[in-house]
Amino acid sequence: MVIVMTKNAPKESLERVLSEVRARGFTPHVSEGESRTLIGAIGPAPTEEVREQFAALPGVDTVMRISKPYKLASREFRHDDSTVTIGAPGRGAVRTGNGTFVVAAGPCGVETREQLNEAAAIVKRHGATVLRGGAYKPRTSPYSFQGLGQEGLRILEDARAATGLPIVTEVTAPELVETVASSADMLQIGARNTQNFALLAEVGKAGKPVLFKRGMSTSISEFLQAAEYVLSQGNPNVVLCERGIRTFETSTRFTLDVSAVPVLKELSHLPVWVDPSHAAGRRGLVPSLALASAAAGADGLIVEVHARPEEAKSDAAQQLDDAEFGQLMARLRGVVAALGKSL
Ligand code: PEP
Ligand code: MN
Repeated sequence: MVIVMTKNAPKESLERVLSEVRARGFTPHVSEGESRTLIGAIGPAPTEEVREQFAALPGVDTVMRISKPYKLASREFRHDDSTVTIGAPGRGAVRTGNGTFVVAAGPCGVETREQLNEAAAIVKRHGATVLRGGAYKPRTSPYSFQGLGQEGLRILEDARAATGLPIVTEVTAPELVETVASSADMLQIGARNTQNFALLAEVGKAGKPVLFKRGMSTSISEFLQAAEYVLSQGNPNVVLCERGIRTFETSTRFTLDVSAVPVLKELSHLPVWVDPSHAAGRRGLVPSLALASAAAGADGLIVEVHARPEEAKSDAAQQLDDAEFGQLMARLRGVVAALGKSL
C-alpha cells in the first residue's frame, strides 16, 4: 500500500507512521514528492482494516492499494517522474529523467587503451555526456572476446579522468558487483541478465545508479517486476532501457519495441532510455531507431561508437564511426528541440 501524507505533515507524524509500518511487518520506502511525502509499505497485502488504521494516523491523507505486481517501480507509488544522477556532483554529473535528453556512447567493449581513448574523444566532441564501454562482456559464444575485465575498468577510469565523462559499464555476476561498482558511475545490467535475481539484488545494494536493460524475451510486466528487485534493496536510481526483443523478424538483429517507451512511461516513474545499436544490429539502421526513440519520448540513448568499427572485437557491424555519430547527434538535436527538450 501507499500512504500519502498531508501537505506539510510534521516530521513527527512521518516518524510515527514509519514506526507503525515497521511494527506491522512492512518495509517502508519513503518518496519525497514535489508537495507531499509518500510511504510505500511493502509486504503482504494489507487488509481493509489495516489500511483504515493507517488512514486514521495523524498526518495521513490517504492510503491506497497498489494494484500492480511491481510496487516501487509503479506510477501508483510515485506520480512524478523520478530523476537519476550519473557521476559525482561537480565532476561532470549528468541527470536523467528531468526533461533533458542524455546520450551515452562508446564502444561495445573496451579493447585497448588507445581504442577507448579514441572513442571517448569522439563521444565527447559530438556532445554525448556519458561514456560506455564493456569491461566484462556477456558473449553468446564462450569462444568470443570476453572483455579485459579489471584492466578494462582501469582504462575506463583513466578515460573518465581525461574527459570528465561519467562511465557506464556492465556487471555480469554478483561476485563482480563490488569491483565494478568501485570504478563505474553507473552499472549496466545486460539483456541476458534481466532476470538474474541474485545479480539484481546485489546491484540493489551497491549504491550506484543502474542502467537496466530489458531482456530480449521479457514482457514489460516481467521487466518492471525485475526492476523491483533492485528498488526493493533500497536503490531508487534505476534507468529502464529498451534494447529490442525477439520476434519472427530476421531483417534486424532484434525488433526495437518503440511502444515500450510510452508504455513504460505510463506504468512507471523511472527514466526510460533506448539502445538502438543492439536492436538494429547494423549501423545503417541505428540513426532511424535513435531518432524514433527520442520522438517516442525516451529520456536518453545508449549508442555504440568506435573509431574504426571494422576492427572491433565485438558488434563491429552496428558501431557508428566518428562521422556517423556526429551526423546522428546533429539530427537528434533537431528532434529533441522540437520536443522542447535540450540535449
Ligand atoms: C551491451 O550494451 O554491450 C550489451 C551487451 O547489450 P545487451 O545486454 O542489450 O545485449
Ligand atoms: Mn555490443
